[in-house]
Amino acid sequence: MERENWNITRSNLRKKAVKRVNQLFQSLNDEDISVEDNTAENNVEHEVVASGFDLPSNSGSESNEESESFDEDNHVDQEEDIPNNDLAGCLRDWATHFGVSLIALSALLTILKFHHPFLPKDARTLLKTQTCHSVASLASGSFYYFGIQKMFSHFFEKLTSVVQNQHSFKLQLNIDGLPVFKSSGIQFWPILGMLQGYSRKPVLIALFCGNSKPQSLSEYLNNLICELKSMSTGFVVNGKTFFLTVSSVICDAPARAFVKGIKSHNGYSGCDKCVQPGIYINNRMTFPELDANVRTDISFLNAEDEDHHLKHSPFCETSVPMVSGFPHDYMHLVCLGVMRRLLDLWVGACGKLRSRISSTQVKLISDKLVALRSLYLQNLLEGQGA
Ligand SMILES: [Zn+2]
Repeated sequence: MERENWNITRSNLRKKAVKRVNQLFQSLNDEDISVEDNTAENNVEHEVVASGFDLPSNSGSESNEESESFDEDNHVDQEEDIPNNDLAGCLRDWATHFGVSLIALSALLTILKFHHPFLPKDARTLLKTQTCHSVASLASGSFYYFGIQKMFSHFFEKLTSVVQNQHSFKLQLNIDGLPVFKSSGIQFWPILGMLQGYSRKPVLIALFCGNSKPQSLSEYLNNLICELKSMSTGFVVNGKTFFLTVSSVICDAPARAFVKGIKSHNGYSGCDKCVQPGIYINNRMTFPELDANVRTDISFLNAEDEDHHLKHSPFCETSVPMVSGFPHDYMHLVCLGVMRRLLDLWVGACGKLRSRISSTQVKLISDKLVALRSLYLQNLLEGQGA
């Protein structure tokens, strides 16, 4: 939906959605909206902005967030009987294929229901959205595993029509903790996945919620590791065989130490790329050696540096490279780390006078950076247009 809708009331939002769908269909005769007539679908097709990646209709992902703000009265009636007719099925396929939001689909159903009373009122009923999940209890919270194959199933099914008998994918994983509220310690620990080169949006594979991070690493990763093992020899979708390997696990330093079962980044032997023990200087751990021996995937699996390992990581049971498969976290290390520190020293109050730069120089650099940003955006747009 458009950005302007974020600040309006729910009733107004609903009216706007209904109005927009009405506009889509104003040129159509009501009687023309039928399964046999593809005109309506073709017209709507141009209005739908396809999402970066099509999720399964029952994924419970971002579309559900929108639905929460739509209308609380629109409860999902799982028991509602939808006649097995072509119109409902076609609408379901169309909405899934184009990633139509639940708000737009519900508004469309409101209109169509006048002419086709058997259609459900709510989009989630039409899409048969799964609303009940068997949430598992872990030691320190609740956990639900959505699954890699399940979350990417729609994508794989679409691909079966265009790929050869076999096809390989690389999966990027992301694991991190994020606080839910400022006033409490409740936090989410999602496991996200993205198919390298195919999807632009990460997909939720698993979600943990608790008052602290998962106490048991093996319980937290158990389902993921089991599925990765089961997919190691490939899996079949519509007669085509797909192979999926994890290319990288992207985490910030604390999450990386957690999932690898190693010392924290601020501890002795905490560097996960080299074996130098570290030196404690000015209340912080430093790793000053530039030519220390590097850790390798093999040396990690053999736990050659005992001071580095705290516990066994379930990822060791998979083909994920335990050193090269855990890249440095660019955002925290460079953007929010080194660069912010340098900027503080150059223009902030904490820098020494001899390292600070004048306000004239700051303005000059700032102007050049702004100009570069414009140039970058221009190149980006030209690249997209090409
Ligand atoms: Zn190092």
